[in-house]
Amino acid sequence: MQLLDGKKILAEIKEELLQKVQTYVQKGSRPPCLAAVLVGNDGASQTYVASKEKNSEQCGFVSRILRFDESTTEAQILLEIEKLNNDPSLDGFIVQSPLPSHISAQKVFDAIDPSKDVDGFNTLNTGKLAKGMNSFVPATPLGIVELLKRYKIETSGKHCVVIGRSDIVGRPMSILLSLPNATGNATVTLCHSKTQNLKNFTLQADIIIAALGKAEFLTADMVKEGAIVVDVGITRIEDKTKKLGFRLAGDVKFDEVAPKCSFITPVPGGVGLMTIASLLQNTMKAYEQRFSTLNS
Ligand code: NAP
Repeated sequence: MQLLDGKKILAEIKEELLQKVQTYVQKGSRPPCLAAVLVGNDGASQTYVASKEKNSEQCGFVSRILRFDESTTEAQILLEIEKLNNDPSLDGFIVQSPLPSHISAQKVFDAIDPSKDVDGFNTLNTGKLAKGMNSFVPATPLGIVELLKRYKIETSGKHCVVIGRSDIVGRPMSILLSLPNATGNATVTLCHSKTQNLKNFTLQADIIIAALGKAEFLTADMVKEGAIVVDVGITRIEDKTKKLGFRLAGDVKFDEVAPKCSFITPVPGGVGLMTIASLLQNTMKAYEQRFSTLNS
């Protein structure tokens, strides 16, 4: 069994991005700029956004966080998005989920200029992805594809079972793996809460992507010998022995599943870090597309 080490690959990608930024800056360009819009005080969101800021700065990007009170209206957020869309010093931005319930997340995502939509949640980018066109792809599934690629894991002809069909993880994951290209060409089964006898499918899988958000759901009896298992889940489990009062659990019962696998991602240290890596890569892509458009 080999670990798919998100920490190692994130460090590699940050180094590659830093080299690129230094080259662009030496040639007289400004560095790429990524902003995050944060509404309310959700603890996990604060942690994610702080981590995104730290990692962007480490690869030479300019990072901005725009914080808004929980009571901010949808109209005010839409106005802020318009300002960010029109800001030439900014290449990409994200609006951190979850948003307060009085704000429509999809309305907000659809207000983002598609060329700055580095989270890939805008409907135009979703449609382009489905058609295999150049687009911004949601960072978590994109990060998983990158992780498999960097470990030279072949997807062509493999049976991939994706558990979970959310807009941000499972569905785009199933599309990416089925696209006719070097990181796709898999036979994909997309499972969800209405799937009957899930184990029937997972036992046939060469690659399992577990993205359902149920702690330690995937057990050893559901996985065939030699499978590759990618654990997307992050659930906070109360644990009074930890400083923060909780531990993070994935969707996979790691200790019993890992010995059966050829490759497996740890939680933490796997997909979460690859999500950050892909967000940074998407920001670089937005920056490069922006300047190639300006120069053409
Ligand atoms: P979500 O929107 O809640 O979607 C969960 C999906 O799992 C749904 O499609 C649901 O089916 C399916 N599901 C639920 N119970 C199931 C069961 N017993 N059997 C089969 N399918 C089941 O969640 P999400 O946003 O995709 O996130 C999933 C997990 O990944 C969460 O733990 C989240 O925290 C984590 N996550 C991690 C990262 C990262 O960077 N590592 C990024 C995003 C999310 P229905 O559609 O039928 O309801």
